[in-house]
Amino acid sequence: MPRWGMVIDLDKCTGCGACIIACNSENNIGLSDPQLFREGRSIRWMDILTIEEGEYPDVKKKIMPRPCFHCDKPPCTKVCPVRATYKGDGGLVGQIYPRCIGCRYCTTACPYTVRYFDWYVPYWPSEMMATLNPDVSVRPKGVVEKCSFCHHRWQKAKELARSENRDMREDDYVPACVESCPGKAMYFGDLDNPQHRVTVLSKSRRASRLLEDLGTEPKVYYLLKGE
Ligand code: SF4
Ligand code: SF4
Repeated sequence: MPRWGMVIDLDKCTGCGACIIACNSENNIGLSDPQLFREGRSIRWMDILTIEEGEYPDVKKKIMPRPCFHCDKPPCTKVCPVRATYKGDGGLVGQIYPRCIGCRYCTTACPYTVRYFDWYVPYWPSEMMATLNPDVSVRPKGVVEKCSFCHHRWQKAKELARSENRDMREDDYVPACVESCPGKAMYFGDLDNPQHRVTVLSKSRRASRLLEDLGTEPKVYYLLKGE
């Protein structure tokens, strides 16, 4: 069984936001507006964090794409009273929407604040309704949602391989954000495969993970700026 993970090269990321658009479109994320954003109620499975460093006039801005990290030791799953979130096959941390009671314990437990409560029924203009992805359920008001690493794409890749009577190739499964990145700043694959690029990069000197000292063991690695 693979252990899916991601590497994001911050030297290559330009902050263009293509990953966010691809994620929103792939995963039926309702449209936001400035009011929702101000209220902190917009949904962002993939977000771009900006971190300013230094003092004027020597200020630098770090840009950091941020999905769910699908932690190997996820605190979010431990607190759910109804087992609506779980660590499943491939190390992916999933969400069962019909089971979620919206208590938001998990949003509090996630140290990376990547979980979002659905305060409203998602909205799209009528012209966009035909573009919704039939492979991804539309979440109702009152549940929690988050990045799934496009889990449905893995299912489809497995089914395709089975129908072609072959093993699934590792690169058959790639999340929408990784696929869309014009700068090829994101890599995805099996962290337990020593040959895979993602594993090699995750062990590079430039690799680090957010809040590593918490022991959550995120499966998203950042390659920090080179010298
Ligand atoms: S990043 Fe947060 S939501 Fe994602 S697995 Fe880790 S603790 Fe859970
Ligand atoms: S909000 Fe839903 S998934 Fe999160 S802890 Fe409560 S029931 Fe579980």
